[in-house]
Amino acid sequence: MTKIDRREFLGRLAGCSAHVSFMAAAFPAPRRLRWTRRTAGPVRAQEAWGRIEEVGDGLWAMISTPLQDRTTLSNGGIIRGAREVLVVESFASAEGAGWIAARARELAGRAPSHVVLTHYHGDHTAGLGGYAELAPNVYVTRATRDRLVAGGGLDDDQARLLESATVLTETEPTRIDLGGRVATVVPRTGHTDSDVTVELDEPSVVWCGDLVWNGMFPNYMDARPSALSHSVRTLARERTTRYVPGHGPMADRADLDLYIRVLDDIEAAARRAHERGIDAAAAAAEYAFPASFGEWTLFNPRYHERAIDAWLRELGSE
Ligand SMILES: [Zn+2]
Repeated sequence: MTKIDRREFLGRLAGCSAHVSFMAAAFPAPRRLRWTRRTAGPVRAQEAWGRIEEVGDGLWAMISTPLQDRTTLSNGGIIRGAREVLVVESFASAEGAGWIAARARELAGRAPSHVVLTHYHGDHTAGLGGYAELAPNVYVTRATRDRLVAGGGLDDDQARLLESATVLTETEPTRIDLGGRVATVVPRTGHTDSDVTVELDEPSVVWCGDLVWNGMFPNYMDARPSALSHSVRTLARERTTRYVPGHGPMADRADLDLYIRVLDDIEAAARRAHERGIDAAAAAAEYAFPASFGEWTLFNPRYHERAIDAWLRELGSE
């Protein structure tokens, strides 16, 4: 290790340990483990950063455990058809995406040939270069592609894959035929202006992107809260469905309904703040997350404030 590498390494380590100790202080281990360990199907691969759960024949959900390791950070998945394999998300690092591609080879029997990015946030997209050798068909919304390009800092692999990516239509769903199985990419909005979900009818499985968080309070950084609230309700299916959230363990309909109550509660808090004319910081300081909702991790201690702030901006512009 050179001196510079070593300094960088130690710097990173310090950042990580500071993060870990903050998380440990805020969320005692037994509580945190209760939801992070809940699985919906057999675990087919496991690392510090997450695990792959089988959620149907030829279907796997990647459930990241970012409180321990941020190699993948977001959730995602692998969908096998008779001819081709689709991967949802490119995760937070090329190492993470490369790991998923290798697991796809093992589990689905072939390398992924299609990659769908559910939105532009870095924890779902930064690892795109990890798929470069596979030269997959990448599917993105125009907003995702434009924001990633405008954000700069793309390496050659990322730039090339985005340049050749299929831009999804925003007016209707796109069907990707994998052979005997069709994955439908549905344009959505609310978490960002770039969202899509990846949906299967039989069995009924929905990769929700960051429109749905389970056991982790959602990030409203780029959200349009009323659209988020609406979109999440439209994801609910009558028949038994498995929902792969953007973050947190696999969800069923009861989890989705609880998540909607979480969204509604923060909306109610924001509307009260709007009526009283107090700002997001003041409203967040007095906001009490209902104990009846159970333990919801805050990725960042300011997420309640961000959510209320997003609502206040929307309410103020009405
Ligand atoms: Zn996101």
